[in-house]
Amino acid sequence: MSVFEHINGDGYEQVVFCSDDQSGLRAIIAIHSTKLGPALGGTRFYDYGSEGEALIDVLRLAKSMTYKAAAAGLDLGGGKAVIIGDPTRIKSEELLRAYGRFIETLGGRYITAEDVGTALEDMDTVRRETRWVCGCSHTYGGSGDPSPVTAYGVLQGIKACLLEVFGSAELEGRTVALQGVGKVGFALCGYLVEQGAKVTVGDISVDNLARAVSSHGVETLPLDEIHKMEADIFAPCALGGMINDDTISEFRCKIIAGAANNQLARPEHGEKLRDLSILYAPDFVINAGGLMNVEDELRGYDRERAMQRVEGIYKQLQNIFALSRERSISTGGAAEEYAQDRIRKISRIRLLRTTEYGTAGHQ
Ligand code: NAD
Repeated sequence: MSVFEHINGDGYEQVVFCSDDQSGLRAIIAIHSTKLGPALGGTRFYDYGSEGEALIDVLRLAKSMTYKAAAAGLDLGGGKAVIIGDPTRIKSEELLRAYGRFIETLGGRYITAEDVGTALEDMDTVRRETRWVCGCSHTYGGSGDPSPVTAYGVLQGIKACLLEVFGSAELEGRTVALQGVGKVGFALCGYLVEQGAKVTVGDISVDNLARAVSSHGVETLPLDEIHKMEADIFAPCALGGMINDDTISEFRCKIIAGAANNQLARPEHGEKLRDLSILYAPDFVINAGGLMNVEDELRGYDRERAMQRVEGIYKQLQNIFALSRERSISTGGAAEEYAQDRIRKISRIRLLRTTEYGTAGHQ
C-alpha cells in the first residue's frame, strides 16, 4: 500500500518524514487534526520491523489522540511521532536534538511528549532545540512523570462506573482485578487499596508484582487468570487489545475500566460487552489524565489546576454513559460520537474566530 493510500480518506492533515544522516535519525511525525488546536501526542521510540509498520502505527496513534483530546474537552488536536530503531542502541543527544529541530520547523502545529521508549530526560534534551515539547522535568518548568496523574484519572473513571452500575461510587469492599502494575497500575493500586477496595493483581514482571505486594499488601493471580477473575471491576493497565475474540467470553466482572490504550481489539468487542451487560469505560476517555496534565504545561504548570481538570473525567464518563443509554449504542461508540460532535461544533467556532481575526488584520 502506498503512503497516500494509508492517509487518504481518514482526514490526516500532514505526515512528515524526518531523516538525519549524521545522527541516524529516522522519524515520522503524523498530524491527524489541528481543528481544535495544536496536535499534541508523544514520541514513541521503537524498533519497528519495517518502515511500513512504523507508518501504520504512527497514523493510528495520531488519530486516537484527536479523539482523546476532543473527548477530554481540551483545545488540542491529535498527532503522534515515531522514531524508528532500538532506543537502547541508537538513542543519543545528537539524535534527539536533530529530532527536536524537525519539530521546531513545524512552528507549533505539533507538540511532543514522552511515550513508549522515551522518558522525561529525553524531553529535556528535545527542549534544547524546540519549545514545542511538554512532559519535561520540574527543573524546566515541566510537570514530571504523567503516570500517577493518569492513575488518578482512572480512579475517577472507576467511581463513575460504580455509580452507573451499583448506584454508589464507594470503593469500600469492592473487588478489583488489576492487570499490569507498572507506572500507572501501581499508582492506581495504591489509590484503590487506600479507599478500601480488595485488589488482586497480575503482571508479567515478577519485580513489579513483588513491589505491589510489599507496598500495598495485595493478592496475586497468574497472568492468564487475572482477566477471568470474578470481580466487580477488571482494570486493564498493561497492553492494548486484551478485549478480543478469545477473552470476550471469559470476563466475570461487571465493569471494565483501566488505563491501557486501545483495549478493544475491534470496535465490535465494545458492542459485545454491552450485550454481556459489562460496563466498559472507553479507554481514551478514562486514561486522558496524563494528557490533561501535560497540556497544563503549555500555560505554565499548576498541579492543582491539572488535578481539578482530571477530576472532570468522572463527569465526562457520566455524559458518555447517558449518551450510550439514550442512543442504545455501546459506550465506545458513544465516546466517539461525543468527540466527533465536539470537533464539529468547536472547530466551526474557531474557524469563525480566525476569519474575524483575518478581517481585523486587514483594517
Ligand atoms: P508500564 O510499562 O510502566 O507498565 C505496564 C505493566 O504491564 C508492566 O508492569 C508490565 O510488566 C506489565 N505487562 C506487560 N505485558 C503484560 C501482560 N501480558 N500481562 C500482564 N502484565 C503485563 O506502562 P504504563 O505507563 O504504566 O502504561 C500502562 C498502559 O496505560 C499502557 O497501555 C499505556 O499506553 C497506557 N497509558 C499510560 C499513560 C501514562 O501516563 N503512563 C497514559 C495513558 C495511557
